[in-house]
Amino acid sequence: MMTILAACLAAAGAFAGGLLTGSGLAASLAVGISVSLVGWNGLFLLGFFFGSSYLLERLFRPAEEVEAKGSRRDAAQVAANGGAAAVAGLVYSVFPAAFIMAAFAASLAAATSDTWASAAGKRTAGTAVLIISRKRVKAGVSGAVTAKGSSWAFGGAVLTAAAAYLLFADITALHALIIAAAGFTGQLIDSAVGEKLQLLYTCPVCGEATEKEQHCGKPTFVIKGIRGINNDAVNMIATCSAAFLAGFCVLLFT
Ligand SMILES: [Zn+2]
Repeated sequence: MMTILAACLAAAGAFAGGLLTGSGLAASLAVGISVSLVGWNGLFLLGFFFGSSYLLERLFRPAEEVEAKGSRRDAAQVAANGGAAAVAGLVYSVFPAAFIMAAFAASLAAATSDTWASAAGKRTAGTAVLIISRKRVKAGVSGAVTAKGSSWAFGGAVLTAAAAYLLFADITALHALIIAAAGFTGQLIDSAVGEKLQLLYTCPVCGEATEKEQHCGKPTFVIKGIRGINNDAVNMIATCSAAFLAGFCVLLFT
C-alpha cells in the first residue's frame, strides 16, 4: 500500500516539476503502480532509471535538439521505457519466478543503458559512426554511436544489473551477468533499429536531416524509415528484446 502511494507521489512530483505531460503522468501512474506491486526493491530499480536519466540529461545539456520531442515526457515515451517493466512487474506480483524478475530488471537495464548513452553520446561534439554501415555522421543521429556514448551505455547496464543483484534475493550473480548483457544488447538493438528502420525526415528550408515532423516552420519530408517506427517504437523494441533475452537465458541456462 505504501509503495503504491510512493509511486503516485513520485509521478505527481515529476508532473508538477514539468517533466511530464498530462498523458505522461497517466502512463507514469500506470507504470509506477504496476511496479509498486513488486515491492520497494522494484520501485527502487525503476527510480534508479528515472533519477539517473534525469540527472545525466541535466548534466549533458543539449546544445541543439535533434530529437522530435521536447523535454516533457509523454505517454508514448514513458511506455517505451517503462512498459515492459510494468508488464513484467505485474506478472511477477502474481508469479514470482527469477526469470520474470530478470526480464523486469533487463528491460530497465536497456532503458537506462540507452538513456545514458543518448545523454552522453548525443551531446558529443564532432562525429559519430552509424552502428551497422560504419558511415560517419553527426553525433545525435539515430543509430550513431560514439566511444563515449557506448561507455555510458555499458555502465548503465552494469550498474542496473548490480542494483538488481543487491535488491532482489532471487537474483544471483549469474542472473545479474545475464541482465547486464541483455540490457547492453537491447541498447545495441536500439542503435541498429534506429539506423535501419527509424523514420528520418529532411527539412525543405535548411536541408538538415531531422526526426521532427516540422523544421524551420515547414513540414519535413520522409527520406528513410518505416511508417510508425519513431524513436518511441525503437525504444519499445529495445526494452522488450532485453526483457525476452534475459528471461529466456535465465529460464534455459540457470
Ligand atoms: Zn530546417
